[in-house]
Amino acid sequence: MDTAAPAPLTRTDLAARLAHIVGPANVLTDPMDIEPFLHEPRDLFKGAAACVVRPGSTAEVAAVLELCSETATPVVPQGGNTGLVGGQIPDSGGGSIVLWLGRMQALREIDVGSNTMTVEAGMTLARAQEEAARAGRLFPLSLASEGSCTIGGNLATNAGGTAVIAYGNARDLVTGLEVVLADGRILSTLSKLKKDNTGYDLKNLFIGSEGTLGIITAAVLKLFPRPREIATAFIGLGSPHAALALLDLSGETVGGEITGFELIPRIGLEFVLKHAQGVRDPLAGPHAWYVLMELASQHSQGLENRMLALLEAAAEKGIVEDAALAASEAQRQDFWKLRELLAEVQRHEGGSIKHDVSVPVADVAAFIEEAERAVTATIPGARIVPFGHVGDGNIHCNVSQPIGADKAEFLARWDEVNAIVHGIVAAHHGSISAEHGIGQLKRDLLPKVKDKVAMDVMRALKHTLDPKNILNPGKVL
Ligand SMILES: Cc1cc2nc3c(=O)[nH]c(=O)nc-3n(C[C@H](O)[C@H](O)[C@H](O)COP(=O)(O)OP(=O)(O)OC[C@H]3O[C@@H](n4cnc5c(N)ncnc54)[C@H](O)[C@@H]3O)c2cc1C
Repeated sequence: MDTAAPAPLTRTDLAARLAHIVGPANVLTDPMDIEPFLHEPRDLFKGAAACVVRPGSTAEVAAVLELCSETATPVVPQGGNTGLVGGQIPDSGGGSIVLWLGRMQALREIDVGSNTMTVEAGMTLARAQEEAARAGRLFPLSLASEGSCTIGGNLATNAGGTAVIAYGNARDLVTGLEVVLADGRILSTLSKLKKDNTGYDLKNLFIGSEGTLGIITAAVLKLFPRPREIATAFIGLGSPHAALALLDLSGETVGGEITGFELIPRIGLEFVLKHAQGVRDPLAGPHAWYVLMELASQHSQGLENRMLALLEAAAEKGIVEDAALAASEAQRQDFWKLRELLAEVQRHEGGSIKHDVSVPVADVAAFIEEAERAVTATIPGARIVPFGHVGDGNIHCNVSQPIGADKAEFLARWDEVNAIVHGIVAAHHGSISAEHGIGQLKRDLLPKVKDKVAMDVMRALKHTLDPKNILNPGKVL
């Protein structure tokens, strides 16, 4: 790659040359037009940009990157702008361009025989699910942000979500990738092959790299059979230990059929019931904890009975206190709505300090107990709201401010609370970022928790693939 000094270019000249590539309507420079691209869902990060560029094809992305490489212009890729670590937001310098992939939404091909679907990066996750369903297949990635987030963003962040327990992370749902490199070359590995051991698996370098190694323009996604029967239960229990015992028992009885296993604390449910419209508690009385459990089967009958048998056995063992089984698709959606609103409603309770952590599944209950003890010892009255993908060992261990506390003063203790929770995560050999990534939010934490040699290898890869550091600089590393 060429590492010669960049040719200087004024902002106007840059916009003009970009307009020559993507058309003038697809280079936004008006501050009103670019404002929505400069901050993210939690408003933790705000940035500035020379312009927003909206390419319509891989060839246009390649030409944009070639120009940016020539001029050493930083490029911040953005899809649905739902990322939670600030990776898609440029810095405040104003010299970057935001490269928005949202115009590239073509369904290039569905190959039902191979169970694959080739889509462009700007397709929303919800549409990818719909296209798969239209072909009689399932694309199982499932996130609360699926109406807005894009396949490119999902792969760049190696998104997780609620179906990981059965189907894996976004990384596990891909057989091939098309990526534009920092210098504008197109790396095409749009393969449908399940088996291909011809050297390094390059696609996995870009998946989870948060736009720092290349721009994902298209992907071959894996499709699955659509389940014929789904059974969903909202289950009340006494503790996270009981949730783990239920997971264990479920593994023995309906193991291969578990497609969702989400933990909800009573306080989280109370926040939802207090702040959201059209929701109700599915159970007659309160329980300290809940599990939203879903089973799916290729058989057209018998699943509900298996779920009931499991719940009865769990009740007999004292694991489950009460449970409601969804009697209709509408009721199933109602159960999931309670889970999906958990993150959003926390903002109505004042400041919330977020953690997206993972520990070995067997350690989840101990982790939650230790985190609650340590956080409330430091901030008496702080309300810990740990929820999420307990079946994957991934807990969103959020902490809401004490009732009546000053929000700004509480949020000023963000790093202190992070240090407490991350210390407990480290003691359990866990991860400070289970599924949201590093972005800007955790960039400075990463060297403190990651193996030194792993950091060296990551830096070496970055330098090899992006010697001018134009791809999402200041993110991850
Ligand atoms: C309500 C809500 C619920 C969520 N639930 C989950 C969840 O359960 N699990 C989970 O993992 N995440 C979750 N997220 C986070 C977020 O939705 C995911 O990270 C998602 O994958 C981001 O996709 P996006 O298109 O919005 O990407 P963006 O936010 O636009 O970008 C995210 C990162 O990817 C990079 N990027 C985007 N497109 C490309 C591309 N084409 N090529 C290279 N880099 C690119 C960006 O530079 C940035 O670093 C949630 C977010 C919200 C708001």
